Amino acid sequence: MAVSFFTAEHDALRATVRRFAEEELAPHADSWEEQGDFPDWVFNRAGELGLLGLTYPAEYGGQAGDYFATIVFGEEIGRCNSGGVAMALAVQTDMATPPINKFGTDEQKSKYLAPAVAGQKIACLGISEPNAGSDVMNIETTAVWDQGEWVINGRKTFITNGYRAHFMTLVAKTRRDGADTGHSLFVIDTDTPGFVRTGKLDKVGMRTSDTADIAFEDCRVPEAALLGNEGEGFKHIMWELQGERLIGAVAGAAGAQRMLDAAIAYAKEREAFGRPIGKFQAIRHKIAEMATLVTGLRELIYYTAFRWDRGEYVVREISMAKLLAGQIGFKVADQCLQIFGGYGYSMEFPIQRGWRDSRLNRIGGGTDEIMREVIGKLEGL
Ligand SMILES: Cc1cc2nc3c(=O)[nH]c(=O)nc-3n(C[C@H](O)[C@H](O)[C@H](O)COP(=O)(O)OP(=O)(O)OC[C@H]3O[C@@H](n4cnc5c(N)ncnc54)[C@H](O)[C@@H]3O)c2cc1C
Repeated sequence: MAVSFFTAEHDALRATVRRFAEEELAPHADSWEEQGDFPDWVFNRAGELGLLGLTYPAEYGGQAGDYFATIVFGEEIGRCNSGGVAMALAVQTDMATPPINKFGTDEQKSKYLAPAVAGQKIACLGISEPNAGSDVMNIETTAVWDQGEWVINGRKTFITNGYRAHFMTLVAKTRRDGADTGHSLFVIDTDTPGFVRTGKLDKVGMRTSDTADIAFEDCRVPEAALLGNEGEGFKHIMWELQGERLIGAVAGAAGAQRMLDAAIAYAKEREAFGRPIGKFQAIRHKIAEMATLVTGLRELIYYTAFRWDRGEYVVREISMAKLLAGQIGFKVADQCLQIFGGYGYSMEFPIQRGWRDSRLNRIGGGTDEIMREVIGKLEGL
């Protein structure tokens, strides 16, 4: 009997996500890529279909499913042919809202989680800053307790969904009565005075997603904006990053499989020297090696996800999966582009988009180098 992590319910979900991605989103992908943007109805519709709260409690509109539901979503949504759209949705479901679900009060969950699950409010996550990306401990944004409110000052950069978001899950350094109290999380409305969108990053790939620079200029938020315990924000954000890295690995592996499928189909059709190019050993072996790498990666992800879903804090395995997904994803993208020859390099074939989009996985959510540092430390070095 074949071992599978997926049930009939997962299969039904897979069909729904695939239909949404292929029929409702993919037809627009080329024009959205050209505009460098996509409309907010994508969030509304994903919410309507019940896809934005797959693991969240029913009380807040979620489906109360397991992590393999998240995997199904992460694997299928990329069929929309726009990495930027898939990433924007993943920020909503697996990066900005998990801390609210885990650490939020009932009030915060009703105000932010429930509308995010419904696709009515868009979320972003504010960790990175101009002077601190990998080095999260050394962020400079501060929240100072003053006359019953938190006053936030500083800058965030590279914020996915930052232009369109209704709220941000934010990490800042807190100060109370003149003393530092460590890092803390906040959830804040983006229409609060002092929350200023200062620019958008033009990017090599993921072109449909908006990537914002944000400034906090004496942005005053109420006590109720504090998410989780004061001073525990660093620990909370490290936990958040595990989910972010795992969904990044899922998306990276699925993207690599899609590029590989396209390259195999092309290798069967395209002829050179009187035979399909897939009949040349150089191409066949390349494909065999890529199929091996992607299959191995997927199995590591499934096993890691199984343990994560059971509540194990599998930082080592998640870091390995994220590292491999970035490495294998980009290698597969490059070799698949090569199989398409000159057409691979033309803008008419979608492979160039996968090649550009996949590069991000070696940087976003923790770079290859940081993953190696984490793994190295956990190996006792
Ligand atoms: C398209 C896009 C979307 C993003 N979305 C978000 C978002 O929504 N929210 C958010 O908060 N952030 C987001 N990010 C930021 C992303 O997480 C950071 O870019 C990433 O963590 C790296 O930080 P950095 O760019 O400041 O690079 P740096 O930290 O400056 O690193 C520069 C180089 O030095 C290397 N390096 C740094 N420290 C070490 C070390 N100890 N050992 C070895 N090498 C090291 C890095 O690996 C890298 O190669 C996004 C980034 C991009 C490009």
